[in-house]
Amino acid sequence: MDLTRIKGIGEKKNLLLNNLDIYDTLDLINHFPKNYTDFSKYTILNSRIEEDFYLIKVNLFKEPEVMFSSASKSRYLKAECVNEGFVFSTIWFNNTYAQKKLKINETYAFYGRIQNKYGKITMFNPVFEIYNQTTLLKGLKPNYALTEGLTNREVYEFIIEALKTEDVNSVIHNELEKKYGLISLKEAYFLIHNPKNFIDVNIANLRIAIEEILNLSVSFYLIKNESQGKRINFYDKAKTNELSNLINSLPFKLTESQNKAVNSLLERLDEKNSVNVLLNGDVGSGKTIVVFILMYYAYLNGYQSVIMAPTEVLAKQHYENAKILFEKFGVNIAYLSGSVSLKNKETVKREIQSGNVNMIIGTHALLQDDVRFKNLSLVITDEQHRFGVNMRNSLNQKGANVDVVVMSATPIPRTLSLVVFGDMDAIYLTDKPKNRKKVDTFIIPKNKINSMYEFIKEQLNNQNKAYFVCSKIGDEESEEENIKSVKKLYDELKIKFNGYNAAFLHGKMKKDEKQKIMNDFAYGDINLIVSTTVIEVGIDVKQATVIVIYNADRFGLTSLHQLRGRVGRNDLNSYCFLLTDTLNEKSINRLKILTKTFDGEKIAEEDFKIRGGGEFLGTRQSGFINGVFKKLKIDGKALDLSKKIKDETINNCEYINYFLLNRKKKYNEINDIVL
Ligand code: ADP
Ligand code: MG
Repeated sequence: MDLTRIKGIGEKKNLLLNNLDIYDTLDLINHFPKNYTDFSKYTILNSRIEEDFYLIKVNLFKEPEVMFSSASKSRYLKAECVNEGFVFSTIWFNNTYAQKKLKINETYAFYGRIQNKYGKITMFNPVFEIYNQTTLLKGLKPNYALTEGLTNREVYEFIIEALKTEDVNSVIHNELEKKYGLISLKEAYFLIHNPKNFIDVNIANLRIAIEEILNLSVSFYLIKNESQGKRINFYDKAKTNELSNLINSLPFKLTESQNKAVNSLLERLDEKNSVNVLLNGDVGSGKTIVVFILMYYAYLNGYQSVIMAPTEVLAKQHYENAKILFEKFGVNIAYLSGSVSLKNKETVKREIQSGNVNMIIGTHALLQDDVRFKNLSLVITDEQHRFGVNMRNSLNQKGANVDVVVMSATPIPRTLSLVVFGDMDAIYLTDKPKNRKKVDTFIIPKNKINSMYEFIKEQLNNQNKAYFVCSKIGDEESEEENIKSVKKLYDELKIKFNGYNAAFLHGKMKKDEKQKIMNDFAYGDINLIVSTTVIEVGIDVKQATVIVIYNADRFGLTSLHQLRGRVGRNDLNSYCFLLTDTLNEKSINRLKILTKTFDGEKIAEEDFKIRGGGEFLGTRQSGFINGVFKKLKIDGKALDLSKKIKDETINNCEYINYFLLNRKKKYNEINDIVL
């Protein structure tokens, strides 16, 4: 439902909510609190307190002052405070409002993150209100991600209004809800925004998590059963003998799991249903050659095949590699992307339609209606999470009952993937090419940063390349703020790396601009890149040997591992430096896992144990449109219940119809499930 139909939301507030990725009432009620203030429990500070979020009673010594940090060239607000006799400082970034509000002779309740540096306590960006006894009765107060111009109170009230009118229908039949002791979904939504205590939060979280997992896993099940048509493109088994020509021409030997993957794919091409497989393997495990071999098999059998990559750089890379590999065998390969000139595009399209080209490599441009194939039998998409399922399907429709392979490097813990993707057929590349060295990984303390920079300079002097990746500093920071902090780092590093070519990369840049920089980094004279986390997935910059990740504790282990995969793409020694300010033991121990473990799947499993599964299924990693996952805690119990409910749902006509009906209502789907 339209946001402006909610009491209090006019055009202006509507736009502000859009900034938070809230476009309708469904998004609004899914804007879960990022945390809660427990107004029943005040903490008393001491010099050994662990870093975490706390609620404390505060008095101010003097008016807060605006300060200037010469290190980061930015202004911040600082207040000297006291909590039950314990003196500490409070710092706000980007919040001048606090300066006007805070008075010396008043007592406040502050809620925020505490940093403890050897007994020196600082609280960062606290929210606050005047302390009075009645707040004690309020229980948990939800804190929402905000944008300038919207207060927490307003957002909360909009959500409550939306909950009154929004139909919150579950895809789970109420008989199953009863059987498994689940509260109604509507109740869960109410509780997550209005909990009395953390038990309520957990109950609500569990119920919503189960709903989301069901939604995905049952949809996957249905898609798989629908899309698996009968095979109509038949392969001549005898042709597999000719594959050895190609395999023997490679400059390396296939790894054991590459061999296994090729064989099991070839076997599947012999089955009566068309193939729909996820080829999953860590970055650098060598997925591309596996699908190239399959494409060659299609060629030998007289079929066309296609690879679609999410970016021009990646598509181009595949194209160049394919040319080197296949041209000596007489294969015609075409390239198609938005940047190909109109005239060339027309030629390429004609050649595709006439069947003159055998393999086609490109970007989204391949999806256009006027790209028609003569006899397409094999469709491959790279880094699947960048494309929506529906986008992939529109490529799959370009041939009749084509075989589909999607490649992905997103490590998903098995425990999670079995439940969610249980019905997707997956093949894993579990080992890495032999020449690949592990990326030496270090946690760098503050006092070692300069020697790290010196070390990196030596690397750059040897024609190697380095990435510097910066994450958001605070929860509240917007993309703009994030870019600002990366820009700051860039300015700093330009001075530190005087004489080297540095470039700066972020998500809001134009596509062409980004690709030009990546190209100059990969093949040209850029030595180092300072970037937000947008470094193109899958890009293979052979000379990149160093990646530095700032505020590493703010990332999930899987994200860190994926970032680390940007280096070590050849036989050079490569390094990953994790920088962090935290002294929190748990966070440090979590990072230490990366210094010892290099297996993506193991890391994913560890991450899952520590942080739950929400991150894996959240928007950025897996590409599911539904961003709700990221905000949920998904644990073994949620998975276990989901699996049981899913099994009962798919085996019962009434339940499955109920599922479809409510899914359609929720997402306004007309006749197709769109994930
Ligand atoms: P990813 O799985 O991340 O897509 P790629 O397919 O891009 O990995 O392979 C990474 C690099 O490893 C490429 O340069 C590729 O040529 C090389 N490679 C692939 N398989 C092997 C192998 N068995 N031995 C040595 N190098 C390999
Ligand atoms: Mg790849």
